Amino acid sequence: MNETTFGNPRLGAQRMKRAARSVQSEQHAKMRGQALARHPELILLFGNNPWTALAIPVLLVIHWGVAALVQNQANLLLTFVAAFFLGQLLIHAAGGLVHETAHRMIFRAQWPKRLCDLGLEMVLGSFSKQLTYQHEHLSSHHRHQGDYQRDYEHEDRFALAARHAYKNQHPFRQRLVTLVILALHCLPFGFVVSDCLAPRFYRAATGLPVKDTDRLIPSSHPTTHERLMFIAVSLLTNVLLFWFIGIWAWLYHNWALSLFLGKMGVMNLGQSLSEHDGDNETVPTRSTYGPINWFLFNTGYHLEHHVFINVPWNQLPVLTRVAPEVFCHANKINYVRHWWAHVAADFSASRKNSWQNKPSETVKPG
Ligand SMILES: [Zn+2]
Repeated sequence: MNETTFGNPRLGAQRMKRAARSVQSEQHAKMRGQALARHPELILLFGNNPWTALAIPVLLVIHWGVAALVQNQANLLLTFVAAFFLGQLLIHAAGGLVHETAHRMIFRAQWPKRLCDLGLEMVLGSFSKQLTYQHEHLSSHHRHQGDYQRDYEHEDRFALAARHAYKNQHPFRQRLVTLVILALHCLPFGFVVSDCLAPRFYRAATGLPVKDTDRLIPSSHPTTHERLMFIAVSLLTNVLLFWFIGIWAWLYHNWALSLFLGKMGVMNLGQSLSEHDGDNETVPTRSTYGPINWFLFNTGYHLEHHVFINVPWNQLPVLTRVAPEVFCHANKINYVRHWWAHVAADFSASRKNSWQNKPSETVKPG
């Protein structure tokens, strides 16, 4: 710490904060500097867009409207089809708004933001998991992108190593395990069962550890009071769906949410797989352009978002148009193909990183 820094705690804190950012996050900052140097007018795009909040009741009405239609049919197959093709897409769209509010791009002030988040909880029924996402997305992913030890989006390397070890020993059996996992993830709440059983299976089958207990991802957390408030809203949502619309409506919603969060969340998983290679320090992030952004509040403009974190969703295409020399890293593969490649490889790593290549002796015994 030099004398200037020591004499100015605020400056010192800022420098420490800057030093704490990952190489990939610094690369985004560098791209931001280049874009602003050539196009200083881009600064006019900064700011929030409170009109975005109007989309929340629209999504809620459509989602519950589909739930009411499903209730009228009272058919298991139709409920699954509606959950798979409509429900999870509506939840994906609401997820795009959760991302927007996480960055305070809808409302800056605390209470309007809180009401907006609670409205989204009515759509999602996430039992406060949206808050966990908001905290991890800001304090872990954006700041430490590509750093296995700090970016929560990287899969646990021991879980990955155990799966690879099993696949190397029993490639045919692994294919069957993949099918069983996919079948479980097709069921309502199936991902919860799968996430509970799969680690136990790989640990028992390989004798390898499945959790990197030394990895302590630094992330801020919601308070207990906040969690309870959101859990209460989720309970209310489930009660309203169950008692006032009916059990099929309740099943449709929870089936859609289960599909979205699990391996059968084709578009959600495909989008995640398309965004970051994990170990690419020159082009850390790619964008997906096209009509899919009409439904997902431009979350496909992911490079633009990482470079200009304080530009709202509706202005992201302007960045691409004004600074094409910076925003020239498009993902050319659609989300469905990304998902299929991941599944066909028996769940390949969603992000590459150097920790996955550490010698096997660094993997602790089980
Ligand atoms: Zn973000």
